[in-house]
Amino acid sequence: MDIQMIEKLSNAFGPSGFEEDVVRTLAEYCGEFDISNDAMNNFYVRMPGVQSEKPVVQLDAHLDECGMMVQSILDNGALQMLLLGGFHLTSLPAHSVKIRTRSGKMVRGIICAKPVHFMTDSERSGQNLEIEKMYLDVGATSRQEAEEVFGIHIGDPIVPDVTFSYDKENGICFGKAFDNRAGCACIVDTMKQLYGERDSLPVNVVGAMAAQEEVGTRGAAVTAQIVKPDLAIVFEGSPSDDFFISAGQAQGQMKHGVQIRIVDKSYISNAQFIEYAEELAGKYGIKYQEAVRRGGSTNAGKISLTGKAVPCLVLGVPSRYVHSHYNFCALEDMEAASSLAASVIRGLDAERIRHICHQDLF
Ligand SMILES: [Zn+2]
Repeated sequence: MDIQMIEKLSNAFGPSGFEEDVVRTLAEYCGEFDISNDAMNNFYVRMPGVQSEKPVVQLDAHLDECGMMVQSILDNGALQMLLLGGFHLTSLPAHSVKIRTRSGKMVRGIICAKPVHFMTDSERSGQNLEIEKMYLDVGATSRQEAEEVFGIHIGDPIVPDVTFSYDKENGICFGKAFDNRAGCACIVDTMKQLYGERDSLPVNVVGAMAAQEEVGTRGAAVTAQIVKPDLAIVFEGSPSDDFFISAGQAQGQMKHGVQIRIVDKSYISNAQFIEYAEELAGKYGIKYQEAVRRGGSTNAGKISLTGKAVPCLVLGVPSRYVHSHYNFCALEDMEAASSLAASVIRGLDAERIRHICHQDLF
C-alpha cells in the first residue's frame, strides 16, 4: 500500500461537513478511474468501461474525521467550540488544533488548559468537563483581533493539529484520523489491485467514500441510493481494544490482521458473507480477527437498509485511540483488509451472491 497516500489522507483537513480536502487528495490517487462527487462531498470511484449489468459491490469508507466548529468568539478573544463527532472531553484540553478560516488560512489554536495553579479542587479532579466551558485560544487578545487579524468567523471548522509519520522498521503509522482515512486508503488500494482485471471481474466494483459519518452516518444514506449495491464492503478505522482488554479477550488487536465485525449497534452482519470471507482469508493466509461489539456503528447500518436490503461485510483496521488526536495503526492490518476485500470480490459468482442474499433459502 502506498504510504505517501496514507500520509496525505491522514494529514488532510476533513471534519464532518468539510471533507473537500480529503476528496481532492483521493482524486490525486484515482487517475485511472472514473471519479465524481456530489453536493455533500460524497466521492465515487468507478472502474472505467465496465458493463453496467453485472451485480454491484459498493466499497464504503467515510471521509470525515471527528472535529469541531467555532461556536462563538468571546470579548477576550477566546473561542467556544461545538463538537462535530464523538471526541471525549478528557482528551481535548492542552491539545493543539487547526482552524480553517473562510479565506482558507490555517490558524493554530490551543484548547485551553487552565494552569493547575488557578484550579479549584473540583476542577483538579478532572470531573464534570463540559464543552460549553472549554475555550480555544488562537493567541488573540480581543474579539476584534480574533476576527479581523486572525480571520476567525463563527462556523469555521477545526481539526486536531497532528502530522503523520511512518515507522518503517516497525510498520506503524502515527497520525490523526485513521478513523477513517485508513478505510479510504483501503478502497483505493483494493480498486488498484483489481484494476487490471476489471473486465473479467464477476461484479462491478464502485468505491463510495461517504461524508458526515461521525455525525450520524449521513453520507452513506445518499451513496447507497446512488450506487444501488447488491453487496457492500464497509471499511472502518475501528478502535483498538488491545490495551484495555486482556489479550485473550481483545477483539481489535493491532498487528492481528483485519477485523471482521460480526455485530455492533447498527448492524448484525450477514453470516454467509462472513463465512465466505473467512474461508478465503484461510485459503490465502490473510490474518483476521473477529469482533462482537457491544457499542459502535458504521455506515453498514445505513447501507444495509437501502434498496432490496444489502448484505455488508464490515472490515476494520484496528486503530489505537481513535476519536482523539494521536492514533497508531499497523500497515500490515490495512494491507490485510484490502487483500481480503480484493479476494472476496474476485471469488464472487452468481451462485455465491444468491446464497449471501438468501435467494436459495427455499
Ligand atoms: Zn469511523
